[in-house]
Amino acid sequence: MSPAPETVTAAEEAAALAAVPRGLLIDGEWHHAGSGATFVVDDPATGASLMEVADAGPDEATAALDAACAAGPGWAATPPRLRADALWRLHDAVVAATEDLALLITLEMGKPLGESRGEVAYAAAFIRWYAEEATRIDGRYTRAPEGGSRLLVTMRPVGPCYFVTPWNFPIAMLTRKVAPALAAGCTVVCKPAEQTPLTALAFADLVRASDIPSGVVNVITTTDPAGVSDALLGDRRLRKVSFTGSTEVGRRIVAASATNLLRVSMELGGDAPFLVFADADLDAAVEGAMLAKLRNGGEACTAANRFLVHESVADAFAERLAERFAGLRVGRGTEPGMDVGPLIDDDGRAKVASAVAAAVAAGADVRIGGDAVDGPGYFYAPTVLSGVGDVDGLRGVELFGPVAPIRAFGDDDEAFALANDTDYGLVAYAYTRDLRRTMALPERLEVGMIGVNRGLVSNAAAPFGGVKHSGFGREGGPEGLREYLETTYLAIDES
Ligand code: NAD
Repeated sequence: MSPAPETVTAAEEAAALAAVPRGLLIDGEWHHAGSGATFVVDDPATGASLMEVADAGPDEATAALDAACAAGPGWAATPPRLRADALWRLHDAVVAATEDLALLITLEMGKPLGESRGEVAYAAAFIRWYAEEATRIDGRYTRAPEGGSRLLVTMRPVGPCYFVTPWNFPIAMLTRKVAPALAAGCTVVCKPAEQTPLTALAFADLVRASDIPSGVVNVITTTDPAGVSDALLGDRRLRKVSFTGSTEVGRRIVAASATNLLRVSMELGGDAPFLVFADADLDAAVEGAMLAKLRNGGEACTAANRFLVHESVADAFAERLAERFAGLRVGRGTEPGMDVGPLIDDDGRAKVASAVAAAVAAGADVRIGGDAVDGPGYFYAPTVLSGVGDVDGLRGVELFGPVAPIRAFGDDDEAFALANDTDYGLVAYAYTRDLRRTMALPERLEVGMIGVNRGLVSNAAAPFGGVKHSGFGREGGPEGLREYLETTYLAIDES
């Protein structure tokens, strides 16, 4: 089933959904939940239900971990070249299934089809990158400085891993964890978000059809993430947990991970500042702002959450951004030519509306938008707010919607102080042509990633991750592989 670009019929939607497995992938087989329980997945563009999938409990989670543990030694012993080959074939299968996966992403998450295709390409890029990296896991060999022994450092897989992923990038957040884990020789249990399990199940089916051995990748869907997570985090066989989602839930998982002293990676929320200095190329800054703000409809941890613009260009920037926002088409992501889809649910939209209301009550100007869009589904109009000051109800709030609040600053010290005045530290964007200022950005900005004169940082070859309450650990690049490797050091006597 391959819909023509931007044209999806009801029959094609139905066919895409009918092809999705409804079960739990445990040890290479599809299983029902023992209780027979299922849950409904909704289309955020209409509020209508799409289909039902199995609702796992702690028992199924433990069965999935049983499978991961059983498959662990064999997968760890598989030569890296063969693990790499298996990842290559999985990569090719994901690319070949782009249209089907993209449609599922759009149906359950809402983003326009073109963006969903982009997410599948991004997801596949992690599998490709780690297929390449799998054969480059090395160690170290030196003489002890004082003599008397040789030091040999070797790497081995961490062991069984548990992955919890969010709804905003239903496949990319999964492959960003699964691919490096498999490359390192780990086996995994994945728990996708309850809002978007369909893409994960379709991905699981591709894994099942591949030559990756049974039990290496297990996928369970549930409406009881706390119960399932407690069962796995409390199980002494688990060795690592990697979580992408909100800071609040991340904190709970870190606390629970202490019992078994797990290796932990946390990709949490963001409050990205987008800095436009007086010397910036304003056209480029507006272009970058469109991407940094509207990719994924603003529902991205990397979304520009605050625009900090030098006072000499703040008004011109707001005017140009509002002009661009005025041309955006908002609607169901399966319809042709849409730029912005719905928010994930009514709570998400209410949160955006309350942040905008707080800014307006504090005196911000609504340049464009400022309202929810009528009709079924959870749409919110692309919104530009200028003259935003320090606003309770906006400060430190991850907007997760198509809203661009603009605040003017006077000099660099003020800009960087405002940028760092947040608990989060995932990403920042800076538009400037000054080399000295650019080179100082890593020291002046408390973040894990910086987009310099560009509104997109994500790249499978780069270390994605944050500092402060945005978490710790990195995904992507060689750094992402180290998250799944343990170090063993041998002191070899040479006397
Ligand atoms: P969320 O924290 O509510 O949910 C994320 C996942 O955690 C889901 O799978 C959910 O089922 C699970 N979960 C919920 N409660 C749990 C519990 N008590 N124990 C264990 N698991 C639990 O977040 P969300 O609303 O789905 O996603 C949005 C958040 O994710 C935003 O804060 C966003 O910034 C963040 N995010 C971060 C990155 C990153 O790489 N830093 C990427 C994408 C999204």
